[in-house]
Amino acid sequence: MAKVYYEHDGDLKHLAGKTVAVIGYGSQGHAHALNLRDSGVKVIVGLPPTSASRAKVQAQKLEVLSPAEATQRGDVVVVLIPDQVQQAVYKSDIAPNLAPGKTLLFAHGFNIHFKFVVPPPAVDVVMIAPKCPGHRLRELFQEGIGVPALLAVEQNASGQAEQTALAYAKGLGSLKAGVIRTTFKEETETDLFGEQTVLCGGVSALIATAFETLVQAGYQPEIAYFECLHELKLIVDLIYQGGIKYMRYSVSDTAEYGDYTRGPVVIDAHVRETMKKVLADIQSGLFAKEWMGENAQGRKRFLELRSKAAEHQIEKVGTELRKMMPWIQTSKEEATAAQAQARR
Ligand code: NAD
Ligand code: MG
Repeated sequence: MAKVYYEHDGDLKHLAGKTVAVIGYGSQGHAHALNLRDSGVKVIVGLPPTSASRAKVQAQKLEVLSPAEATQRGDVVVVLIPDQVQQAVYKSDIAPNLAPGKTLLFAHGFNIHFKFVVPPPAVDVVMIAPKCPGHRLRELFQEGIGVPALLAVEQNASGQAEQTALAYAKGLGSLKAGVIRTTFKEETETDLFGEQTVLCGGVSALIATAFETLVQAGYQPEIAYFECLHELKLIVDLIYQGGIKYMRYSVSDTAEYGDYTRGPVVIDAHVRETMKKVLADIQSGLFAKEWMGENAQGRKRFLELRSKAAEHQIEKVGTELRKMMPWIQTSKEEATAAQAQARR
């Protein structure tokens, strides 16, 4: 069983007299900065002088400095900028200002695990990764509710790395819910695998392939959209609430029988083998190298893939059909994320 930490395992005294420098003020950054501040921790924020987010930080009466100055002043330096820019910002702004005894804290293990960022041995390297989007982390904190998180220690130069991470998790509110011990390797590899095979890649390809199959067989695209995409939310909500078993309890017996007998025909032994291959490419570092290379070369292929996917018939049909359902509104969280995406 996984090791889980709770409220009594962490003590904010391990952050007393220390300054937490949060680099980045996006989805995770603003939530970490504000939750810790409200927990009585001294927080400063590091952002480039040109960053549009600077005004938001100042509106919260938090001090905002450049990433380099914030690193210099911080005892705990929290790297909450997009994963694909961490290597460059680490090299130019963070590394030159990292003195021995400081703690580097990440919310995802990608750059440390794949060695795009290699901190000096005299620095502690830890991870606290909350298991929800930043805006939810902040909202729930304000309601007095904690969000589960993962904890990992990669370097423990001070001998205090775990205590520092636990104090940080307490400040975020996460110890109220429980914090699960993992490693940078496990968190990084499972995170990539989940998003590639199920959450983003697998689900999108499953939806699109099923939609295309129906349309090519002569069914109307509008009907295919409802059956293969729209209704997915109802099913996922049930699974989220009570597991796959609860979803099966809620659907008709016909749907349940089709699930048992046809699901494994679609997701067959071939898919299992393919998943192993996808996992192997993650474990070997091939995927990470490919993605960082893509960024280094200006993201041409990535942007082409993005615009090609956006032109798929399912998107056009969906845009029209959603006008019939005005109650499907973009949440504040999604709108913020979409805007952040557009600005990048
Ligand atoms: P984000 O895109 O929402 O925010 C990025 C922030 O970094 C912004 O404030 C932006 O101004 C700043 N930034 C961008 N480029 C910069 C640069 N070159 N120099 C300095 N600042 C720069 O990012 P996020 O989604 O909060 O992700 C941050 C980290 O948290 C990542 O490691 C991610 O994997 C991890 N994480 C995110 C979530 C999530 O829900 N979004 C959940 C768990 C972990
Ligand atoms: Mg993830």
